[in-house]
Amino acid sequence: MKIRVGHLYPDYLNIYADRGNIAVLAQRAARRGHELQVRAIGMGEAVPVGEIDLYYVGGGQDREQALVAHDLARKADPLREAVEHDAAFLAVCGGYQLLGRFYRGVAGDELPGVGILPLHTVAGERRMIGDVLLHCPWAAETLARLENHAGRTVLDDGAEPLGRVGDGFGNDGASGFEGCRYRNVYGTYLHGPLLPRNPWFADRVLADALAHAGEPTELEPLADELERQAHAVSAERARARGGRY
Ligand code: GLN
Repeated sequence: MKIRVGHLYPDYLNIYADRGNIAVLAQRAARRGHELQVRAIGMGEAVPVGEIDLYYVGGGQDREQALVAHDLARKADPLREAVEHDAAFLAVCGGYQLLGRFYRGVAGDELPGVGILPLHTVAGERRMIGDVLLHCPWAAETLARLENHAGRTVLDDGAEPLGRVGDGFGNDGASGFEGCRYRNVYGTYLHGPLLPRNPWFADRVLADALAHAGEPTELEPLADELERQAHAVSAERARARGGRY
């Protein structure tokens, strides 16, 4: 099955190896006989609603976010339509922040968001940096990887977090939660890239995209011993930080 991926602003939002997430999805799809077809959706380019199974947007510094935010906000309607028709969407850090209502940077400049995720973000002085361990009861799994953000993301009442922070800062260093989930949209601060060390999550995103492509399927497990070892290293680094937030 061809899985059609729309990579938003790959030349602007691609910090901390976030491109690696696409490479992992392509590899894990190919090992099951599927093909990832990736197309960039850049500045001024239309969102081909109905032709994309998985949208992806990476992270970026405030400068890059400011360069794309207004263009991205103009894409809000087709992106929201795609999400309501169960397209999959993975958004990392700066891209995650821009899926909310707005992102206010350290200089107080407010960037418009897409408004797909029920949240907003305001940057603080102290950057939140380090390894994070998340518990995801909705999947009975954990996620572990890096965070590096000034933004404090506040979820609306009733919004679904991606996970509960075991160690690290998470969305705002206070709520005890990280990320946000809505339908098949997953927003997270976890970088590095995220997916190589969290294979269950890569497969979850792939399964959502395959279902949208018309092939709902249980992906057969892969031999993820190396990935599990890498996950354990990140989880141990997060625990070694000691601080809850
Ligand atoms: N510029 C945003 C912040 O500092 C996002 C950073 C990122 O994508 N790593 O919070």
